[in-house]
Amino acid sequence: MKPDLVRREANHVALTPLDFIARSADVVPHKIAVVDGERRFTYAEFEDRAARLAGGLAARGLREGDVVSVLAPNGAEMLEAHFGVPLAGGVLNALNTRLDPAAIAAILGHARARFFILHAALFKLGAAALAAMEGPRPAVIVIGASEAERDAVGGEDHGDVLAKAARHPRRAPADEWDSIALNYTSGTTGRPKGALYSHRGAYLNALGNVVTFGLRPESVYLWTLPMFHCNGWTYPWAVTAIGARHVCLPAIDPARIFRLIEEEGVTHLCAAPVVLTMLIHAPEAAGLRLSRTVEVATGGAAPPSAVIEAMERMGFRLTHLYGMTECYGPSTSCFPQEEWSDLPLEDRARLMARQGVRNITLQMQDVIDRETGLPVPRDGATLGELVLRGNTVMKGYLDAPEETENALADGRLHTGDLAVIHPDGYIEIKDRSKDIIISGGENISSLEVEEALYRHPAVMEAAVVARPDPKWGESPCAFVTLKPDAEPLTEEDVIAFCRERLARFKCPRSVVFGPLPKTSTGKIQKYELRRLAAEL
Ligand code: AMP
Repeated sequence: MKPDLVRREANHVALTPLDFIARSADVVPHKIAVVDGERRFTYAEFEDRAARLAGGLAARGLREGDVVSVLAPNGAEMLEAHFGVPLAGGVLNALNTRLDPAAIAAILGHARARFFILHAALFKLGAAALAAMEGPRPAVIVIGASEAERDAVGGEDHGDVLAKAARHPRRAPADEWDSIALNYTSGTTGRPKGALYSHRGAYLNALGNVVTFGLRPESVYLWTLPMFHCNGWTYPWAVTAIGARHVCLPAIDPARIFRLIEEEGVTHLCAAPVVLTMLIHAPEAAGLRLSRTVEVATGGAAPPSAVIEAMERMGFRLTHLYGMTECYGPSTSCFPQEEWSDLPLEDRARLMARQGVRNITLQMQDVIDRETGLPVPRDGATLGELVLRGNTVMKGYLDAPEETENALADGRLHTGDLAVIHPDGYIEIKDRSKDIIISGGENISSLEVEEALYRHPAVMEAAVVARPDPKWGESPCAFVTLKPDAEPLTEEDVIAFCRERLARFKCPRSVVFGPLPKTSTGKIQKYELRRLAAEL
């Protein structure tokens, strides 16, 4: 390399989302950046509050690489933490608000959290978690709590911390590989693991979101997705990067969502398919046709094509994303080909229900044979494991070298999702490896059976799991929630409906009616259903 062509300060700087807030505060300082109930903050105020949070944390001894855990609903403080914590050199650990105190205590301990920022709305949960901790406790900062509550946990008031703090000087991380966030997996298949994200990965995934989801400076983004789920799929950084507006939403409430869409002029939102199902069946949705198109990105679980169709009929435009905690959330999307727009909605919805192709910021996606590690044929039929590679794959798991090696073996992230790859290169997930049903030696995709069930006009939600079967080893067992106004159905009705659409061996052999247990990130708890099915 000639000496004049080396990397130097002028041409090589660390990639970091911290630049996004600095730029937006410079470029659109007076624009409303954050709407949170009655509160509105401009970009200048948003940036200033984040810089003061960073200053306050630094003054209280936060050191490079220390973890700051936050237990708060989707609100201004959680957004500010996405910038303030890393600005001070810390690593943000956004906690799932639906965990129990013991699980939160375990995470605070495992992460060796130095600070714990706790919102009054979740005070009881946070206080119980602190009480359940065995090792050293983090310093506590409480948002909006009473003096008595603060005293009970020995906490400082968040507002006071910000008011008294000096702004932290703007800085880039020493290295773009430094950690910006720590996100724990849901742990349904084992003990929760803490996936570490880098500044570089967060920067790239956020910009990938801006492009994939078509965010513009005039966009208004509604926070229907929990910010604790893969850092809200990196949208706190994405929306801020383009200088668009965040509209916070502390809890899912369809009436409020429809109202905010109108009142705040919402243009974009992300939500798991279960939230879309809630919107479709909300009383406010009856006969609704939005006055303008609202973009919705969905993922986190497979959206049945019937759900995509019903949303599009209301005037939403859907983007289907796939991802996981280990890859900063969204990594693939069902990129719509131009010719699809001429298809009838039902056919288009079926194509869109596939998980699609790699996002711009991901280098490689493929489906491999689990034995040989070689790519499966692009025939839409051969099942293999989905693997990913690129700059938006996690650094690894905190303090879990063996699990990290397994997840990132031979240069690929092993997702544990079983998929096929179609001749057009689009992937379609058939199941989590543990959810596939093996009946008489044949694989049955639970998602394929669910897709058929969702086509029944009386079905609101459906999930299919393996039930032990003396003859076949396993057989499909369907759990079905009917629409509130639907006529009752019998087990035979459901099985007969499936027989018209599926090969006989794939049809459920038992059907259970009732509500479905869900996780806080919108996944149906299949392990719970498997337990129930085994007891039938
Ligand atoms: P989490 O780490 O909690 O975000 O969960 C990631 C898992 O959710 C993936 O490994 C998939 O099993 C599932 N998942 C996410 N997005 C989709 C999607 N669009 N379709 C089907 N499954 C999905």
